[in-house]
Amino acid sequence: MISFEPTEKQLAMQEHFRRLAVERLQTRSMQIDAAIPAGVDADYLAVIAEENLNAFLIPEAYGGRPLDRMSLAILFEELGAGCAGFAAVYAQTFHGIAALLIGGSEEQKKRFFPLLLPPGGHVASFCVTEEKSGSNTSSFSTFFNRKGRFFILRGEKNPVINAGHGRFYVVWANEEGTKNRSGISTFLIPEKTEGLRFGPYHDKPGFRPAPTATVHLENVCIPIDNMIGPAGSGYLLLMQTLDWGRALSAAIAVGLARAAIEEVIRFAKQRVILKRPIIRNQSIAFLLADLVTELEAARALVWRACRLIDIGKDHTVASSMAKLYASELAVRATTEGLLILGQSGYRRPSLMEKLHRDAQAFRIAEGTSHVQKLIISGQL
Ligand SMILES: Cc1cc2nc3c(=O)[nH]c(=O)nc-3n(C[C@H](O)[C@H](O)[C@H](O)COP(=O)(O)OP(=O)(O)OC[C@H]3O[C@@H](n4cnc5c(N)ncnc54)[C@H](O)[C@@H]3O)c2cc1C
Repeated sequence: MISFEPTEKQLAMQEHFRRLAVERLQTRSMQIDAAIPAGVDADYLAVIAEENLNAFLIPEAYGGRPLDRMSLAILFEELGAGCAGFAAVYAQTFHGIAALLIGGSEEQKKRFFPLLLPPGGHVASFCVTEEKSGSNTSSFSTFFNRKGRFFILRGEKNPVINAGHGRFYVVWANEEGTKNRSGISTFLIPEKTEGLRFGPYHDKPGFRPAPTATVHLENVCIPIDNMIGPAGSGYLLLMQTLDWGRALSAAIAVGLARAAIEEVIRFAKQRVILKRPIIRNQSIAFLLADLVTELEAARALVWRACRLIDIGKDHTVASSMAKLYASELAVRATTEGLLILGQSGYRRPSLMEKLHRDAQAFRIAEGTSHVQKLIISGQL
């Protein structure tokens, strides 16, 4: 039996980050959303530094003060309610850290984890997707080959959150001449490495505060010590990293859905038509009843997946279920939200309109909803 009752400590943390989301993220997120895409916002990097957010992801031995997954789920939900884009910037750093935690050597952890700790707010990037391989990660067109004590990498990763800002880039590539899973390895590429170039920031509809761009690897040369795990272990490491990441991506989607549902409830209580608030219409009241019920269900799926990770049990399907359900709920909550808010939501700037654009990204990033169904149905 899994207990989902948050502890006093978790509740205090939740309250702290709920306030931070309102005070530091919500208003800023609307401003960044309306601006031309640029890099990671300076105010957001300041939040990462001041709150020492990356320390929550890093073991004590390397300077962190780590949280368990359940606590991280609570944290990510609050950040997602404040600004899904900010939470995505942080989540990508988590992916980089996760790959190192799972497959990295002691020496790599000592070298790379401190780069993410204050002073300063820092991020990392997770580089998997290519123009021709998004859902299919069984081979890549980014290639590596060994030259003495070095690996040379060439190819392109696109889209990549935090591109141009990462202290390091975790990159998946196939060994030259291979075209299958067993030829995939994972590499740590420090910022400012020669041959590492970035394209212009994409102008995308949602997640605008999470800047994405193409990462170009032009004969990037790194020491052989920068390969994570043994040669050929990259595919398994990617699957394990994604299994962790999806549970937390789902937590962000829960936060976004909650923000949307709270906004709809507020509006439905205030908007008076024919002398009564519209929430008194059963069609709207029942819809809200469905949404708050689904929100609880989504959160329970997220917490279950996180708890399974914490206790070292198989969590692949649980993470996919959480990601699938929470992503679809985020889209549904904001779609219904736009209907209920009417013309006051269907304009710019409007929180609901922004949440709706952000929500769509959850169905695609870190494995589409189709891919989650493939994973779940594959276990039937
Ligand atoms: C906002 C955003 C940020 C991102 N950030 C990053 C990042 O930082 N790093 C990174 O590496 N990637 C990133 N991605 C990429 C993301 O992981 C991919 O977009 C995702 O994996 C899907 O790949 P694709 O877009 O190429 O779609 P495709 O793989 O081309 O799929 C196209 C369609 O076919 C469907 N499909 C594919 N295969 C199957 C199948 N077997 N059965 C049924 N349907 C199928 C898909 O569900 C989709 O609907 C980001 C994406 C977004 C939207």
